[in-house]
Amino acid sequence: MFVLTTALLVTVVPLYVWHHDFSASAWVWFGVFLYASGMSITAGYHRLYSHRAYQAHWSLRLFFGAFGAQALQNSIMVWASMHRVHHREVDHETRDPYSSRRGLWYSHMGWMLRDEECHRVDFSNVRDLERDPIVAFQHQHYLGIALFMNIAVPLLAGWATGDPWGTLVLAGLVRLVVNHHFTFFINSLAHFWGRQPYTAENSARDNDFLALFTYGEGYHNFHHLFQWDYRNGIRWWQWDPTKWLIAAASWTGLAHGLRRTPEFQIQRAKVQRQFQRAQERLAQAEAGSRLAHLQLLLEHETQSFASTMSEWARLQQEKFEHAKQQLSEHWETSEVRRRIQTLEDALRQQHRRVRLLRIQAA
Ligand SMILES: [Zn+2]
Ligand SMILES: [Zn+2]
Repeated sequence: MFVLTTALLVTVVPLYVWHHDFSASAWVWFGVFLYASGMSITAGYHRLYSHRAYQAHWSLRLFFGAFGAQALQNSIMVWASMHRVHHREVDHETRDPYSSRRGLWYSHMGWMLRDEECHRVDFSNVRDLERDPIVAFQHQHYLGIALFMNIAVPLLAGWATGDPWGTLVLAGLVRLVVNHHFTFFINSLAHFWGRQPYTAENSARDNDFLALFTYGEGYHNFHHLFQWDYRNGIRWWQWDPTKWLIAAASWTGLAHGLRRTPEFQIQRAKVQRQFQRAQERLAQAEAGSRLAHLQLLLEHETQSFASTMSEWARLQQEKFEHAKQQLSEHWETSEVRRRIQTLEDALRQQHRRVRLLRIQAA
């Protein structure tokens, strides 16, 4: 399939451009289908089906099923099954289906060209998805739906706007190849290039630039640590159109039950990671009075972190007791929230201090 689409791209497109011109409407359809199929993968196949980060109305699931097939990345069942294995076995040389350990090319496309044990899907990890009739139907009639969405739909769209063949070439073929590589970047580049602010346990990276091309999935380091979060770029300014689509769907009643990681857990992960980096840096620094001083400061920070954590644990216990005794909801909302916010602020400040300490050790 990849040989065919790439061969068509390098022959048909130049020939077509030589003899004709793409109409403005074909370009519009290109943009529409690029986002419709790309976000059906990221918001549908990925965050909804693979991670159950939220619940969606049947009409939205139908849209994801149809335009996800247009992205030509196999059925929801196959995709979600492999992706769940990817998270469980991340970076394992033979068990992660698109392991970054085996190089950039392998994780981008090479894995799809090989027949290996880890590429055989047994569906035992996607039993929850089979119950969805849309998922089951899409899996059963995948080829027909994929052909219809990739050939008939662009032709019909182009026919409606007066340029069927130009639309088929641009919004069908070119869009398909572009969308393939944009989404494959998530498995390849997002495991190689960028920063690791939350965890160094796996190769996943956060990369603002990559987020622009991957419909917001460039915040992959966050995603691998908090995979059930409906967001990948958690800050308001981080480019994550998939998160905005899901949020917009929830405002209009098409989605509900959006899962978010508590801010405290996010801050805790960031501080722990900063500690790790500072320790690594101090271990490399030259011995001397400055190093001894920094080590003492780091020791002090470690103690302060431990006391924040025990305060947090105490608060959780209190919350639990109150819930058991069914005490006033008011206590829960105002007092607990205030104390949690204080702890979150403490972590934010600590993150800054430990970071500064690490920089000083350079
Ligand atoms: Zn990954
Ligand atoms: Zn994922």
